[in-house]
Amino acid sequence: MRTAICPGSFDPITLGHLNIIRRTARIFDEVVVLVMFNASKTSPMFTIDERVEQIGRVVAHLSNVTVESYGGLLAEYARRFEHPVIVKGLRASTDFENEFQMAQINKSINPALETMFLTSSEKYTFLSSSMVRELASYGADLSTFVPREVIGDIQKKAKRGK
Ligand code: ADP
Repeated sequence: MRTAICPGSFDPITLGHLNIIRRTARIFDEVVVLVMFNASKTSPMFTIDERVEQIGRVVAHLSNVTVESYGGLLAEYARRFEHPVIVKGLRASTDFENEFQMAQINKSINPALETMFLTSSEKYTFLSSSMVRELASYGADLSTFVPREVIGDIQKKAKRGK
């Protein structure tokens, strides 16, 4: 069985993330969307549990996709699978340098681990969670940026943050 791991912070999940998850689910037997705790991201919009619950709602219709969270090294997490593959989205050349470095480090920690990249769909190339958080703080329409299941949660959180 081939397992793909789609890691990220997903704070919040965007249509760009969902596009990568859907396409990965068509290629692999099983997909784990992994919400990673990231020490360098200090003031998150949503807690890890909130993000896991939100993504769970968004991917409920995809039968081979599950959602988990993890606070350690991705390469260590991947050891529980026989043939693990990390699948990441590449938006622009700016993502490349960092992703290339991470893929090599992960492989040196866990040689069984492969990393594959899917190019971002054209309409989501400039979409990021930080852009969504920024737009939400100005009360902008989010319907073309995030899955409809999470729009209400983001609007509520953005209002409370004011
Ligand atoms: P962000 O950079 O938006 O905070 P994450 O850290 O949650 O996103 O990213 C998780 C993964 O999703 C990364 O591989 C990232 O390249 C990918 N990704 C994020 N946004 C997009 C997008 N708009 N299109 C394609 N892939 C994306």
